[in-house]
Amino acid sequence: MQFRRYEDLRSKLLSRELTCEQVISEYLQRIDSKKDDNIFTAVFHEAALQRARELEAKLERAETPGVLFGMPIAIKDNIAMKGAPLSCASKILDGYESVYDATAIERMVAEDAIFVGRTNMDEFAMGSSNENSAIGPVPNPYDKTRVPGGSSGGSAAAVANDLCMVALGSDTGGSVRQPGGFCNVVGLKPTYGRISRYGLVAFASSFDQIGILAANCDDAALVLGVIAGQDDRDATSSHHEVPDYEATMDHVSLEGLRVGVPTAFFPENLNANVAGVVKAGLKKLEDAGAELVEIELPESDYAIAAYYILVTAEASSNLARFDGARYGYRSPDSPDLTSMYVNSRTEGFGAEVKRRIMLGTYVLSAGYYDTYYKKAQQVRRVFQEKYREAFEKVDVIAGPTSPFPPFGIGDKMDNPLEMYLADVFTVPASIVGMPAVSVPVGFDSLGLPVGIHLISNFFEEGKMLGIARNLQAFCQTAPSK
Ligand code: GLN
Repeated sequence: MQFRRYEDLRSKLLSRELTCEQVISEYLQRIDSKKDDNIFTAVFHEAALQRARELEAKLERAETPGVLFGMPIAIKDNIAMKGAPLSCASKILDGYESVYDATAIERMVAEDAIFVGRTNMDEFAMGSSNENSAIGPVPNPYDKTRVPGGSSGGSAAAVANDLCMVALGSDTGGSVRQPGGFCNVVGLKPTYGRISRYGLVAFASSFDQIGILAANCDDAALVLGVIAGQDDRDATSSHHEVPDYEATMDHVSLEGLRVGVPTAFFPENLNANVAGVVKAGLKKLEDAGAELVEIELPESDYAIAAYYILVTAEASSNLARFDGARYGYRSPDSPDLTSMYVNSRTEGFGAEVKRRIMLGTYVLSAGYYDTYYKKAQQVRRVFQEKYREAFEKVDVIAGPTSPFPPFGIGDKMDNPLEMYLADVFTVPASIVGMPAVSVPVGFDSLGLPVGIHLISNFFEEGKMLGIARNLQAFCQTAPSK
């Protein structure tokens, strides 16, 4: 049973050729057979089958099936699901169970989705390799000695290994797009505010967005249509109307489309293999009638510098709530309240999270605020202006998703600054809040996946996914492992 497109599964379910229970037990078996890959932090064996039977009964009663009827979905372990463990792959949330559903979860439930489990990630979504997880790394589906990308590495590996049809991730600076690129699947980060963040554990609130990993753009668009839209429980969620994404995608024409290719996205030290595959992909767009326009945008290195000041500042404040008193882990032997706080945080957080809390606290401290935080905000503003201006000239901006192919497990763990550079091309869209997607476009000479990263103007997810769909079809990569 292999469905790489929800539409095919749906028609078999609605025609009763297959039952939801058959489908879900097959997916659960596959998940169990990949247990050693550490992709899931929790698997909902019973709950998923129970839900499958409920949905089946719904069909029996001739009730209208929801748009995600029977779709097997995995959820990153930082998105709240009522009654399920919520660990953020951190020891500090050990044993904690969420008491409510995130808005995105609620909306998927209402459309008859089935959740198969929760996926591994970098602790609190901080990382680019999934190695900062309290339960250990996930191997890349194409080479087990390499990383799947991060922080949504589990979600990307789950889709690539066909352990679910779609997975939700979260993207603060590239955490859905970069693992999407590393695992040969579509990774979509919508416009900031497009999807409610209610129930997404906060890392850097002015950047965080729920994102979607899928084998193809149609499935990503379908899920986006369900979970996007204003939510009273998230004041930063947008009132912008949710369009019919499928229809918008169908209307996209490549003829005369202006694809901006920033010189900043093709630096001299870009991996030659990656550059070759990306340029070949762009050439296919050109062959189909698009015009490649060279554009100037600020160097992405500045985006990385500003990003790591702003997100660590926000994280230091957001993560203050994990104090040993309110959630999960509490250090057992602390004689007084202060040492209970200190010990719980010292023992509960991993090295990268601590590094960021310290850095964030430092950049916000009196005397340094103007030098770092304020400066970084000014850089953010310059990026916003430059990107807005760019979209007066082009329809979409394209470049590589990552400057290098998936790297070896352990290779960058001793060098955080080098690890941060993995996001050099994904961070700018997060700084400006624009939507972006990584599309699988081929493999390098070692057989490792390469993605093209498309950025579009605010709320133009439909158009962007329409272009991405064409690109994926031209490059004809087989998304399954
Ligand atoms: N890798 C980036 C970081 O470590 C992005 C993380 C994310 O998008 N959640 O901050």
